[in-house]
Amino acid sequence: RAKELGKNYFEIFTPSISVKTYQQFTLERDMHKAIKEEQFEVYFQPKVHRDTYEIVGAEALIRWNHPVWGMVSPGEFIPLAEESGIINEIGDYVMEKVLKQLGSWKRQGMPLVPISINVAPQRFLRKNYFNMVKQTIINYEVNPNLLELEITESSFLHNSEVVLKMVQELRKLGVKVALDDFGTGYSSMTRLTELEIDILKVDRSFVKDVESNRKKAVILESLIIIAKELKMEVVVEGVETEAQLKFMQEKKCDIIQGYIFSKPVPAWQFTEMLETRKLSPKTQTENGTEVD
Ligand code: C2E
Ligand code: MG
Ligand code: MG
Ligand code: MG
Repeated sequence: RAKELGKNYFEIFTPSISVKTYQQFTLERDMHKAIKEEQFEVYFQPKVHRDTYEIVGAEALIRWNHPVWGMVSPGEFIPLAEESGIINEIGDYVMEKVLKQLGSWKRQGMPLVPISINVAPQRFLRKNYFNMVKQTIINYEVNPNLLELEITESSFLHNSEVVLKMVQELRKLGVKVALDDFGTGYSSMTRLTELEIDILKVDRSFVKDVESNRKKAVILESLIIIAKELKMEVVVEGVETEAQLKFMQEKKCDIIQGYIFSKPVPAWQFTEMLETRKLSPKTQTENGTEVD
């Protein structure tokens, strides 16, 4: 889907093929440079236990501090990076940074929590992916259990057999696998019958307005039940309001990720959070979301 988005973007906004090529060329060149010059930074968004508010993990999310444009959100450059193939390098960069960070927390004697990384479908399908993951884990002497890989269902579109195999191999290594953005795009219940995964991440579109939209409430509750019955950990993304948090608590959703606890933050800030171990829900004015 991201790939298609990238394509449409250029089809709609650029008048000719030469401009399209030029823009892509410029961006690609900028992204290569960005890796070398460390313009990319990995942020961490805490995942919190629904009742104790303890930090039980975090998702690594990339940020691009562009010298001219300032902070560029991944929603803008990931689709282009996927289109140009540079996503593979970016993804390996994130993997390296995250495992390095885990290694350094370990040496500092910090409480360790699993960190998840988003993996682009095309990277996952590459032959050397498994070896890269394994080698990086070994290099930084990190427990494989502390690494979670978030894949989306677009990974399955082309070669689902290879994906299923890769998931199996990674889990044998001890790495956890999560299905991201569940309930959107190409996702289907069938996938849950054929895929052995550890974590289901329910897309935040189901959370939005859940307190007032009965259909969403029913679907969200059912997804939580399905995940549990299938022995998966369930993470709900995009929890912003106290009403939504209350819903998750009532429906016994294991883990919550959302602005109500924290936006993605730089490593140093997440380290401070880890030291205190717990977060508390912010009020709506604090977390910057609009109050209805
Ligand atoms: P995602 O993997 O589904 O990540 C969750 C996104 O939801 C993040 O956006 C996060 O900041 C946002 N989010 C979390 N809680 C809330 C909330 O309460 N309210 C709102 N409005 N948003 C919330 P972000 O960081 O902009 O990333 C967007 C997408 O870009 C990610 O979606 C992921 O698909 C992709 N992405 C980010 N980093 C990477 C990366 O390192 N590699 C790859 N391949 N993709 C990445
Ligand atoms: Mg994700
Ligand atoms: Mg997601
Ligand atoms: Mg997403």
